[in-house]
Amino acid sequence: MQTSRLLDETSEKISRMLEREGFLSLPISSDKPVEIFKYNPETGKKFRQTRVLGFLSLKHAAISCGMGEIGWNNLLLTPEFGPHQRLCAIVTEAPIKADPMGKIELCKKCGRCIKACPSGALQDDRYDVDRCFSFWSYGFKRLAPVKFWEWPGYLKMILQHLKRRDIIIETAQTYITDVDNCIECMRVCKVGAMWEKIRPDSLPLQKSGGTEE
Ligand code: SF4
Ligand code: SF4
Repeated sequence: MQTSRLLDETSEKISRMLEREGFLSLPISSDKPVEIFKYNPETGKKFRQTRVLGFLSLKHAAISCGMGEIGWNNLLLTPEFGPHQRLCAIVTEAPIKADPMGKIELCKKCGRCIKACPSGALQDDRYDVDRCFSFWSYGFKRLAPVKFWEWPGYLKMILQHLKRRDIIIETAQTYITDVDNCIECMRVCKVGAMWEKIRPDSLPLQKSGGTEE
C-alpha cells in the first residue's frame, strides 16, 4: 500500500510538471478502483462477487510498452523482477518517443503457480477472479452460494474459519492496511533475473492455509 501511494504521488508530480510545460496529463492510480459493478454491464447478470475496475489496465499498458508479458499466474512478468512489481501510469499529450514493442516470452509454463494456488482460481487456461478474491481477502476456499441448498456447507465453513482465524482482524487488515492473504502464485514463480537464483525448488505451503469445508 505504501508503495502504491508513493507511485501515485510520483505520477501526480510528473503529471503536474508536464502540464506546466503545456501538455495535458492524467495520472492513473496504482491500485485505486474507479468503477464498482454488481452486475455485468454486458449481460445484466449479477456477478457472484462485486467487481471493481480502474481507468486503465496497467498490466496491458505495460505489455504495450514492451515491459513484459502476462504469465499463467495472470500477473505481469518482467525480465528483471518476474511477477514482483507495482505499476502506475500517466496518460499525456506530451510527444514522448515510444519504446519498441518486442515479443517477450518469460513464462516457463511450468505450472508451479497453478499447483500452488490454494483456491483453484488458476486453471490451465483461465483465471477466476471470484475464487481468487474470496481467498485473497477472506481466506475462504468456497464461493458464496448461489443455490439455497449450498448454504449449510458454506455456513459450516465460516464457523470452522471463525474457530481457527480472526475474521474481523483479518478483514480489517485486508481493507485498511492492504495485507494480502495470498501471494502464492507470485511466491512460487521463478521468473525474473533478481529472483531466479534465490527461489528454492520447493516452498512450504502458506501457513494461513484457508478454510475448505
Ligand atoms: S509459475 Fe511457471 S507457469 Fe506460472 S507464471 Fe511463473 S513461469 Fe509461468
Ligand atoms: S493470489 Fe492466491 S488465490 Fe489468487 S490466483 Fe494467486 S495463488 Fe490463487
